Parts: sequence; structure tokens; C-alpha cells
Amino acid sequence: MENQKVFMKKKKMDCCVCSPMASVFRPPRNTLCLSCYEGARSMMAFLDKLESETDVDKPRNSKVSQPNSTKGISCALKWMKEMQEMQKEENERMGFLEGFSAALRDELHSDVQIKPGDGPSIPAHRALLATKSEILRTMLECDECKTPPKDTISLPELSHEELRCLLEFLYRGTLPKEEVEKHVYSLLIAADKYEIPFLKKFCEREILMVLDSSNALEVLEVSEVCSNSILKESAMISIVKHIEDIVFSTRYDSFALKNASLCVEITRSLLREAKNRNCVQSSLSN
Ligand SMILES: [Zn+2]
Repeated sequence: MENQKVFMKKKKMDCCVCSPMASVFRPPRNTLCLSCYEGARSMMAFLDKLESETDVDKPRNSKVSQPNSTKGISCALKWMKEMQEMQKEENERMGFLEGFSAALRDELHSDVQIKPGDGPSIPAHRALLATKSEILRTMLECDECKTPPKDTISLPELSHEELRCLLEFLYRGTLPKEEVEKHVYSLLIAADKYEIPFLKKFCEREILMVLDSSNALEVLEVSEVCSNSILKESAMISIVKHIEDIVFSTRYDSFALKNASLCVEITRSLLREAKNRNCVQSSLSN
């Protein structure tokens, strides 16, 4: 038998690693349960993969030593502890930066008003906005250095609520789930318009996570507005897959009125899909 190892599927009791018994009563060192065996193998494979990836693009000042799977599980454990330490440091840093959202909430030393399409303006901070978006930076700068810097800038396409969410994201780098659910499409459009790549990625991830037949048309529409090829492709695949549910829904009627060219694209995708399927079927029957 390979290395005299015994793999036991059934009872955890029979494993020298994860058995709940005190170590003196445990089975001999070569008795491993399947879960421990598979787990250890997957972990080594994961570390090997990580090692080959980090060899290529490892930051020079990286504090974490290379995971070295050739030295076994104990080396992997050392690496995991370093990662945990780093995560702790990262969390502390995040806590330290949380002060920014308090500054927004409490209007602390704010020096510019942001005016939405409806409702009252929201006080914010020039320096912070300028570091998060080149477009906002340009909007905040004075014209030809003669006029004094503007006290107010307008983002008229956003409602008061949407603007509040955008600002919160710029100050915190994240948003509560219920805010994301309500405003993710307008935030994606704002990310595109004001060139905020991190927000764009955040919205893409959130949209892809909940993409299904009930929202695929909306996603296709918004992906067209901000020329987002990742979302457009995923939405189109979902639409083609659930075409019957979608085409006979009343949602499709109003969608078609507004988006004639997208409807043409849907028809073409459908035809392509049908052709592919026919090709596969005829090659199978031959
Ligand atoms: Zn085990």
C-alpha cells in the first residue's frame, strides 16, 4: 500500500489528525480520513498554484514570505499565520481610515457643496473628491486660475439618495447591501461618467452576483449606456437562455419600445445560438 497510509471514509474517530480523542488514544500516524487527506492535497495544490502566480508578479516589498509547498503542511501553516497577521493589520488600517465617513456624516470642515438633481445639497471635501475621480477634480478646479474655486458643483443626473450613496462609497470604499440593491445601476453609470474604476468593478461584481432572467433586460440596458462589455455579454447569455420567459413578459414590450437596436442584437444572438445548437445536433447524429 502506498506509504502504508490507510484512508478511512466513514468515521472521524479513525483519523490521527482530526479525531476528537486525546492524542495518546488516537490511531497511528499513518491513519488518515479521506477529508484530511483530500484537504491536505488540495491545500498543497493551491499553494503550488499561488507560488507560480506570485513568482511572476510578486511585489518587491511584500512582507509575506513565499508559500513553499515543497516543505509541507507546516510551512503552509506558517504562511497562513502570516496572512492572518496581515489581515489583522489591514483591518486596523481600515478602522483608522473610517474617520473619513465620519467627516462626511458630521460635515466636519466640509468645503464644497454637491448639488443633486433633487433635494438639498450635500457638504463634502474637495481634497477627498479630487483624489477619487479625475473628472470631479477638474470640475472642482477654478477656471484659468482667475476665478476663485467653486463652492458648489452639480451632479444633476443623480437624485439626493443616489448622490448620498456615491459620496458614501467615495469616503468608505464600500456600501451597505440594501443601498447597493437600490442604486447599483445609477452608481455604475456614475462610475463610468466620473471615471471611478474601483466603483465600476464593485458594481459589476454586485450585478453579476444577482443576474438572472428577472433583471437581464435591465442589465443589458444599463451595460449599453456605459459601454460595459462584461455585463453586456453576461446579460445577453442570460436572455438567450431564458428567452421564452423574457419575450412573452410585459417587461419586454416596454424594453423594446426604448431599445430597438438591442432587440436586433438579441434576435441575432438567438439565431446564432440556434445555429450552433443545430450544428452540434447534426454532428452528433452523423
Ligand atoms: Zn481527519
